[in-house]
Amino acid sequence: MRVKCVLCDKIEKIDDETLMAKRLRNRPVHTYMCDVCTERIGERTKDRWATGQFKVHHRKPKENES
Ligand SMILES: [Zn+2]
Repeated sequence: MRVKCVLCDKIEKIDDETLMAKRLRNRPVHTYMCDVCTERIGERTKDRWATGQFKVHHRKPKENES
C-alpha cells in the first residue's frame, strides 16, 4: 500500500503484510511518518528531555517505610 508521511508529504510504499500497514488500514486517519521524520521527531524529543522541558514526576520516597 502507499502511505503519505504526515509531516513531509512524502509518498512511500510499504508492504501490505507489515504491522504498520495493518494498523494504518484499521485507522480512518493515516498517521504514517517516514523514517526521516520519525528520526527527526525522536531527536527533538531527546533534546527536550535534555533541556528538562518535560516535567518528570519524581516519586517521593515513602517516609514511613521501615
Ligand atoms: Zn516525512
